Amino acid sequence: MNWEKNGKDMKDDRIRSFDNLLSEVISAGICGKCGGCVSVCSANMINALKLDENGFPAYVRKELCLECGLCYMTCPQTHIVRDEVKSRFDWKPPIGNYTDVVSARSTDSDVRGVATDGGVVTSLLIHMLEAGHIDGAVVSTSRDGLTRVATVATSQEEILQAAGSHFGELPHLEEVGDRYTNYVSVIKYASRTNPVKLKKLAVVGTPCQITAIRNMQALAIVPSDIMTFTIGLFCMQCFEMNHLMEKEFLSHWNVSLDDVSRMNIKEDFILTLNSGIKIHIPMKEIEEIARPACLRCEYFANDYADVSVGGLGSPESFTTVMIRTIRGRMMIAGALAKKSIELRPGRTDEERKADRQGMISLIEEYAARKMARGKLFTEKVRS
Ligand SMILES: Cc1cc2nc3c(=O)[nH]c(=O)nc-3n(C[C@H](O)[C@H](O)[C@H](O)COP(=O)(O)OP(=O)(O)OC[C@H]3O[C@@H](n4cnc5c(N)ncnc54)[C@H](O)[C@@H]3O)c2cc1C
Ligand code: SF4
Ligand code: SF4
Ligand code: SF4
Repeated sequence: MNWEKNGKDMKDDRIRSFDNLLSEVISAGICGKCGGCVSVCSANMINALKLDENGFPAYVRKELCLECGLCYMTCPQTHIVRDEVKSRFDWKPPIGNYTDVVSARSTDSDVRGVATDGGVVTSLLIHMLEAGHIDGAVVSTSRDGLTRVATVATSQEEILQAAGSHFGELPHLEEVGDRYTNYVSVIKYASRTNPVKLKKLAVVGTPCQITAIRNMQALAIVPSDIMTFTIGLFCMQCFEMNHLMEKEFLSHWNVSLDDVSRMNIKEDFILTLNSGIKIHIPMKEIEEIARPACLRCEYFANDYADVSVGGLGSPESFTTVMIRTIRGRMMIAGALAKKSIELRPGRTDEERKADRQGMISLIEEYAARKMARGKLFTEKVRS
């Protein structure tokens, strides 16, 4: 797999189809299970693909494939439309385009009580729903603390219920079918099921998910047009939750899963215990439980989202917010004006300037680390 490949320097103009995704992405171990390929295939009513029992895309029946190439172009790992997406978002190295970086939090203590960091994402979504900017939000809703399912939240209660971060991959739920197993498919489902009510959606997603959506938008594939706002999470990695539960890992830290009340990723991986004690585990040490595809992934700062968010660089209970696009600016300005969110209080202008610089440096540092790690693991697999 050539990470630098893009539409311009492909050696021929042969259409690449799902067979190429199978060999270049899925078998190569870099499929992030974002679901983009399955989505575009079914959104175009071809239905040649499904997600298998492990969440990987697979043929339903190979003979249904029209070799249209849409799945290949949508995949965030093929980089076919990367130049187009980069130019649409005026991408600049090393962490994309942005107009501001702030540390903020929700003004609602109920939101803060259940959020991962400052609850900015949850309050932004609630604000946009109330203001009529969106009809719903694609979020990840908790089922039982550890497992989550992708849903379209259309009420304040549903958005609140989805607060908090889930670091495992979204589970495959046979009972509701593959349309619920990943974000991009949920979008398709939402647009078909309720085309009148759901015309404007916000999506919260990891970089691979948001990139798949941007690729779909660059290719003008329906229904990516209803994705009005994107909130991108910083992402160092997702975990194999069953590995996290393996006794060796937790016993090494002298805790059991029952002791853990919350997980978070900022500068490191943080386990908050029921007793309130926080254990900080260096990122390097949790590589052993990362999904293999995540170790080879080079996306960190969600460069193509309207707003990117993370805990990195902000004090506890605040969210670091990178405003990237005009839509992003509108989203944040509206929520600030309505007092749904607030900037970190008690800071002078000078301190805010220093905070901003500190956050940018950290985001750049982690983005560079992730890029280097991705290249290293890719090389390891090749050799
Ligand atoms: C897999 C993953 C890896 C991350 N890695 C980092 C990191 O390395 N460094 C860093 O600074 N921050 C990271 N984050 C982001 C961080 O955990 C917070 O989500 C972010 O700071 C927003 O906090 P908040 O309190 O404003 O969000 P909240 O108000 O708690 O809202 C979080 C939103 O994210 C949605 N969500 C939860 N899990 C997922 C998921 N798996 N996929 C898509 N959406 C989801 C929820 O439904 C909710 O809408 C990661 C998040 C995830 C899910
Ligand atoms: S029909 Fe098109 S989108 Fe579907 S699997 Fe074949 S090449 Fe991919
Ligand atoms: S589009 Fe997503 S799910 Fe499909 S092969 Fe690429 S990374 Fe995997
Ligand atoms: S590290 Fe994050 S962005 Fe990359 S494949 Fe894993 S979940 Fe997706």
